Amino acid sequence: MSTGGSAGVPAYAPGQGLRIGVLALQGDVREHERMLTSLGAQVTTVRREHELEGLDGLVLPGGESSVIDKLLRGTGMYEPLVAALRAGLSVLGTCAGLILLADRLADGITGQQTLGGIDATVRRNAFGTQRESFETDLEVPALEGPPVRAAFIRAPVIEALGPAATPLATLPDGRLVAAEQGALMGLSFHPESTGESRFHRRFLSTARARRAPVCSGGAEMGAD
Ligand code: GLN
Repeated sequence: MSTGGSAGVPAYAPGQGLRIGVLALQGDVREHERMLTSLGAQVTTVRREHELEGLDGLVLPGGESSVIDKLLRGTGMYEPLVAALRAGLSVLGTCAGLILLADRLADGITGQQTLGGIDATVRRNAFGTQRESFETDLEVPALEGPPVRAAFIRAPVIEALGPAATPLATLPDGRLVAAEQGALMGLSFHPESTGESRFHRRFLSTARARRAPVCSGGAEMGAD
């Protein structure tokens, strides 16, 4: 299914001409589709290996990482996705998506795997029951403008980050909740549900910078 199209989006939109997939096995797919479409990207949902073809970037949404992991393996998507990540596909992972991007997982269910790619140890469900879900303002030095309003929903934290990765945001208590490494960005929280577009814009700009030179610049012909 595709909800692509950029009708009404100005020509300077950050996603203009970019084909972005949203992994749609489970989770908050719609919110990401809406956000990316509003930024001018051509958005497609991804449930099968062949739907990875031709993407400039992919969003791994929030949801339940253990379920997404099982579905990835059940649909034969796991290996192709790992290969796509290793090949340099730009990826934004939110919440469960961050868990999938972590090289190391704490408090996973038995047998739970990640795709990996960010040299991080991520702990699932890291906030106690009282604070399972909350919103807060985050300072994110890499983003211009006011603090980020961030929704944490049964969120993970990044417990350790290796030298290849860069921290992006910490809670006031010092816990790390966002990081990036190369073309991969992982967030503990859900910018798509608070209307915060700056992480998606940053992801789109990474995707644009990394897309094959043959596609860069000028008019887009026959996309799709
Ligand atoms: N707790 C979920 C998990 O382990 C993540 C929650 C979310 O994505 N909002 O995958």
